[in-house]
Amino acid sequence: MLGLMQDYPLLTHTILDHGALNHGERELVTRSVEGPIRRCTLAELRSRALRVAKALEREGVKLGDRVATMAWNTERHVETWYGVMGLGAICHTLNPRLFAEQLDYIINHAEDDIVFVDLTFVPVLEALKQRLGTVRKYVVLTDGAHMPNTSLPNAVAYEDWIAEVDDDFSWKHFDENTAAALCYTSGTTGNPKGVLYSHRSNVLHALMANQPDVFGLRSEDSLLAIVPMFHANAWALAFSVPAAGAKMVMPGAGMDGASIYELLDSERVTATAAVPTVWLGLLQYLEQTGKKLPYLKRVVVGGAACPPMMIRKFELDYDVELIHGWGMTEMSPIGTTGNMKHATSILDREAQLKLKEKQGRTPYLVEMKVVDDDGKEIPRDGKSAGHLLVKGPCVSKGYYRLEDSVLTADGWFDTGDIANIDELGFMQITDRDKDVIKSGGEWISSIDVENAAVGCPGVAEAAVIGLPHPKWTERPLLIIKRDDGSAVDADEVLAYLDGKIAKWWMPNDVVFVDEIPHTATGKIQKMELRKQFKDFQFSN
Ligand code: ADP
Repeated sequence: MLGLMQDYPLLTHTILDHGALNHGERELVTRSVEGPIRRCTLAELRSRALRVAKALEREGVKLGDRVATMAWNTERHVETWYGVMGLGAICHTLNPRLFAEQLDYIINHAEDDIVFVDLTFVPVLEALKQRLGTVRKYVVLTDGAHMPNTSLPNAVAYEDWIAEVDDDFSWKHFDENTAAALCYTSGTTGNPKGVLYSHRSNVLHALMANQPDVFGLRSEDSLLAIVPMFHANAWALAFSVPAAGAKMVMPGAGMDGASIYELLDSERVTATAAVPTVWLGLLQYLEQTGKKLPYLKRVVVGGAACPPMMIRKFELDYDVELIHGWGMTEMSPIGTTGNMKHATSILDREAQLKLKEKQGRTPYLVEMKVVDDDGKEIPRDGKSAGHLLVKGPCVSKGYYRLEDSVLTADGWFDTGDIANIDELGFMQITDRDKDVIKSGGEWISSIDVENAAVGCPGVAEAAVIGLPHPKWTERPLLIIKRDDGSAVDADEVLAYLDGKIAKWWMPNDVVFVDEIPHTATGKIQKMELRKQFKDFQFSN
């Protein structure tokens, strides 16, 4: 027997309708790509999103067509997302940091029809345009006055384009499992793979993000959405902020410490989210200027391991609650957040700060477990590490236009991360499975060694890779980029590490480089480093 509840499909535009009706006066504030700060309300944003949908329909875009965006976080980008999805088309977010061949591959693989592009990225697409056979039109996210002289075929200024229609448009009706958005992973190995979110998964994920023990947004909040909309579904923020009725502040192209600080201060931001590199920039700026963060209450750090010193700086020096999060594009992307819980309230401050170094625990709607090489579950003892598997309504089961399911026989998704889970449910990533260092039959966690090394004065960035060793199979090599002007040497770094990591984890050598290579999403390219140092000989 079925229940007698209404059939109310979970569609992304229902979030915008709710936000605009109940929090219509709430502001969206953007540092525009053209320069000045722009403001609009949630009610105006909805009206403009309806015009995007109507203008797209006039262009012949229909259910299931792919419409791409290559843009910073701005209110125009948010309008475009809702407009595309509300028509039943699929919003494909292009990461401008991908290499040209990867962009060429994903635009053609997705068969994008229309592309919305920010002024900054017009040259990127101009260089590729000959190869983008499926794209009919380029909408440049600016007004007529700032429209560049571009060689992109059928290019039009966004403001002129939506001015041709009014907002008298009804969102389309379709099944909640309809595809809403497409985001390719960065393809560290091989071609990028398309993660295809549905309306249902995006709505459930926004509700999940807004749980008090996850990001816990409330209508009183002012949220600075730094994590880019072109990476990993913007960590739900384009949906969770309007769902909560919070104020949304967007940095456009201004990701440096000074620009971020200016928005945190002038817009009285209470909560924000970004990867560690962005926070390093802000912390440096605060230290140089002596400025404080009087309004900020919560900062979410994820996408890469949060260095312990960052946790201490935010919590102790600036009195801001730091929430360490883990996830991946394939998980929409939230997997875990490290909020304290009832059982941790008895811990002293030091122990709580230590616990925050772990990646955290799962909210309702994410299941996770750690298994050994044979797929057998490993106990939650906080020590035994294995392959981290996940499950849930916002977790991928396959990739766009790749036939094979990516799940295990019993329906779990292998994250490719190596982790342990403790008795309280806190998970700790120790490595990517392809990066673990197997020494004498045991695993050395490169992340732990890197975390310890970046605490050493004079070290700007650290990467640890495993290299072949005649006796131990593999041993760690520590690769360091120094702070500007620092002359820290190998002996000083090793002396600093002594006592902070297990003796047998001590790197066999330390080398210094000018730059550590990164992927398009800011992760250290260990494969590249392994290539670079393949002939390196340990001195012991
Ligand atoms: P990409 O496109 O670069 O693969 P993802 O965001 O999907 O981008 O990458 C997900 C991976 O990033 C995770 O599987 C994990 O290895 C790493 N990661 C994310 N958050 C953390 C974190 N807090 N600590 C350590 N690693 C993390």
